[in-house]
Amino acid sequence: MGLKKGTTLLDDLIDKAGGCAVIDGGFATQLESHGAAINDPLWSALCLIKDPDLIQRVHFEYLEAGADILVTSSYQATIPGFLSRGLSTEEAESLLQKSVKLAVEARDKFWDANGKVPGKSYNRALVAASIGSYGAYLADGSEYSGCYGPDVNLNKLKDFHRRRLQVLVDAGPDLLAFETIPNKLEAQACAELLEEENVQIPSWICFSSVDGENAPSGESFKECIEILNKSNKVNAVGINCAPPHFIETLIRKFKELTQKAIVVYPNSGEIWDGRAKRWLPSQCFGDDKFEIFATRWHDAGAKLIGGCCRTTPSTIRAISKVLRESS
Ligand SMILES: [Zn+2]
Repeated sequence: MGLKKGTTLLDDLIDKAGGCAVIDGGFATQLESHGAAINDPLWSALCLIKDPDLIQRVHFEYLEAGADILVTSSYQATIPGFLSRGLSTEEAESLLQKSVKLAVEARDKFWDANGKVPGKSYNRALVAASIGSYGAYLADGSEYSGCYGPDVNLNKLKDFHRRRLQVLVDAGPDLLAFETIPNKLEAQACAELLEEENVQIPSWICFSSVDGENAPSGESFKECIEILNKSNKVNAVGINCAPPHFIETLIRKFKELTQKAIVVYPNSGEIWDGRAKRWLPSQCFGDDKFEIFATRWHDAGAKLIGGCCRTTPSTIRAISKVLRESS
């Protein structure tokens, strides 16, 4: 692939994108808008079983909107989650592989059709395998509280993540995306696992935040980031699924805490009630707002910008447009 020594596919993409690459947007949101019913603990992972074509359609929509990175549909896809639905281990693992395969196929098809068309300025997208936090698997809202209880220690979190990580890496994504990590312990578990499994592809680790200042557990980001700074397997750190108005301050904070690339993909600003499993009406930011935000986040030093829950291809189109103009 002719990469410079010491640089990764991710660095290369950020370069090609003019200094800031665009991540895709909300996945479940888009599945729902096409009529998928995902009121289920497995959430969008259910679509891997029921409607894989729809997953590819959503990947395509984000590529058309200008996403440089596709995040796979494996956020809440876990082996124990599938087992609890009566699937076998083999079936569960094959669904995890499928989440990567669907994204890679969509990327390849899109690139074949659009990559070399004059006048279209797409980058060849990368596929990031999504690894949701332990709280996302519990589906009890703990990815936003960071409270895993006294029975959950470092080894338990590593054991929870290990097999899924192995299966996803073997399926051949370009990178790994750890998402909505709510506390220091799980960040440490993810970083140690990357070492123990000797993962060779780049990865990012993103935290959620509910107060705009700390990790959801109340631990400072300083404590959380210090742990990740020690690992050269973690290429980028940041925030996902927090409201947009927290992000600029958090980017500036992270800039002081780390040399690693900073990645942000907030939600639309609406608030998810993890226990009631519904969106509470709250301040929702439109695409025009996202254009202004994305410029500010770029100026503040973010290298990867996208959207999480309730953002859509039109949000990503707006972000992509404004970042392309400024690069
Ligand atoms: Zn989200």
